[in-house]
Amino acid sequence: MPTRQLQCETCKAELEYEACKAAFVPGAKIACPYLGMAYAELRAGHDRLYFGKWRRMDADLLEIRRAYHQIELHLGAIKHSLESTDLPAARRDLEKGINALHAVDPRDGGPEALRDMDHALSYAHRVIDDLLSEMGLPGHTPMDFAEWYDTEEVPFREEL
Ligand SMILES: [Zn+2]
Repeated sequence: MPTRQLQCETCKAELEYEACKAAFVPGAKIACPYLGMAYAELRAGHDRLYFGKWRRMDADLLEIRRAYHQIELHLGAIKHSLESTDLPAARRDLEKGINALHAVDPRDGGPEALRDMDHALSYAHRVIDDLLSEMGLPGHTPMDFAEWYDTEEVPFREEL
């Protein structure tokens, strides 16, 4: 039973920290907010970063470094999803996202590093939208899930 509590089956969030842990509180009626959605894992992976502490004004270097690695993992998951598709524009956007991330020195954490990480995340969002569009679905809107995250202090920046 402990293993079931470690990770959400739908969005793969680590439940110790993440939004949908409410779904696993005994007796709770709340389901994972991504339940039944196409690319639930990618959406959740994006939103964890989008609403992440690293984007706050007072983020510390540890949070920024952790986010860097999460973005890297997120782009890797997107790449995996793209393998079975024929979406050249999405592949180019993924490439741009990877390049934006690799322009960052994760030891840095300065404004330029944060900007490049933001760009990488925006490209990731574009690719997720391309995948959804291929299925005839509307794009992913992180704000629909904002209530599941601790968003009070996140400065929302413009998406690309
Ligand atoms: Zn979940």
